[in-house]
Amino acid sequence: MPEFKRPHALADVTTHYCPGCTHGIVHRLVAEVIDEMGIEGDTIGVCPVGCSVMAYDYFECDMLEASHGRAPAVATGIKRANPDKFVFTYQGDGDLAAIGTAEIVHAAHRGEKITTIFVNNAIYGMTGGQYSPMTPYHSKATTAPYGMIEPDFNLAELAKAAGATFVARCTTFHAQMLSDLIVKGIQHKGFSLIEAVSACPISFGRQNKMGGPAEMMMWQRDHAVPVAAWDKLPEEKREGKFPIGVLYQVEGRKEYTEAYDELIAMAQGGK
Ligand code: SF4
Ligand code: MG
Repeated sequence: MPEFKRPHALADVTTHYCPGCTHGIVHRLVAEVIDEMGIEGDTIGVCPVGCSVMAYDYFECDMLEASHGRAPAVATGIKRANPDKFVFTYQGDGDLAAIGTAEIVHAAHRGEKITTIFVNNAIYGMTGGQYSPMTPYHSKATTAPYGMIEPDFNLAELAKAAGATFVARCTTFHAQMLSDLIVKGIQHKGFSLIEAVSACPISFGRQNKMGGPAEMMMWQRDHAVPVAAWDKLPEEKREGKFPIGVLYQVEGRKEYTEAYDELIAMAQGGK
């Protein structure tokens, strides 16, 4: 029998992730999209610090490691030097929504043409389950044994307010929709952020008695509401739920490297 070889980058690789961790789903979807768009030779990814610190091991494209929270700054430099490349960052909630908040705000504000994959599993997974700004109100964490007392933090709204021109959210349960949103984010001419609500069965699920990985996926299924339905949902029925899909999109704003090229041409005597 001929050797069966699957077409995508992750096919033959076992990972360092815990069993049931949905980082694997997000990795796979990003890899598939890059493969299907035929851009693997023109892609540069930036890995974070956190559970996905070794993401560079799983993607067959150029990858760079950034220090904690600094992926958007590193991606900015890469994009400026390589305006024709597709540049993406892959960041968890501890990395992006805590130590790296200012980085993402200013990358969105400047309108960098980078795509940020924001894996939100609501916890610092690798370091042992400390709460992050994305840990839901009343949820438990090793640093919040009696429950989180900080109110919920909506990073997608922050990105929009900062100037992101494409903001989307999905879950790892809704894999096909997540894949479609990643494609849209890549195609968007400007800063794009795609939040993937993800399951960390070990550091979040156990502390919050959410069952195993399958139950956590069912939780995603039962709490995510497509935006069209969300818009019609009365306020009292929104409690505990969240919208998924394209949350915000504006086209036509000049992308940063394009504006920068025009500035250089002007400084050199052009118009
Ligand atoms: Fe995944 Fe959580 Fe394990 Fe990290 S700690 S690899 S996020 S299950
Ligand atoms: Mg996390």
